[in-house]
Amino acid sequence: MMGTEMGRKHSSKRDAILRVIQSTVSHPGAQWVYERLKPQIPDLSLGTVYRNINLFQEKGQVISVGVVNGEERFDGQVAPHPHFVCSCCGKIIDLPSPGDETLKERMAEPMENADFTIDYRKTVFYGLCGECEPKVRFRLKE
Ligand SMILES: [Zn+2]
Ligand SMILES: [Zn+2]
Repeated sequence: MMGTEMGRKHSSKRDAILRVIQSTVSHPGAQWVYERLKPQIPDLSLGTVYRNINLFQEKGQVISVGVVNGEERFDGQVAPHPHFVCSCCGKIIDLPSPGDETLKERMAEPMENADFTIDYRKTVFYGLCGECEPKVRFRLKE
């Protein structure tokens, strides 16, 4: 009985971590996920969050957006889409990806004889978000 209880708890922890990542468009880091869940799951450790995120990545349920301001950020939306990263505050915004199919078609032909296979591609745009831009502009003027 004890074992069943522990097993259930283990998987519910895993589910909670995945749900938190999938329920936000903020592209959180492990620390954010940890802080978000800690009040509900008092025995949660940051290591558990990291381990589960690695597992989700292996299973293709979560993708890494890359390291922003020293922290790796994750996305529960795994369909390929470009990102905008604010180089000031580290905010990550999803961008629509029109013409993705056209690009794939265009790439397919010259790639046919290439000695490699492409698993995915990442498109990241860097700039300043709407909140940071006025602040940075103001600072530059001073
Ligand atoms: Zn910003
Ligand atoms: Zn995204």
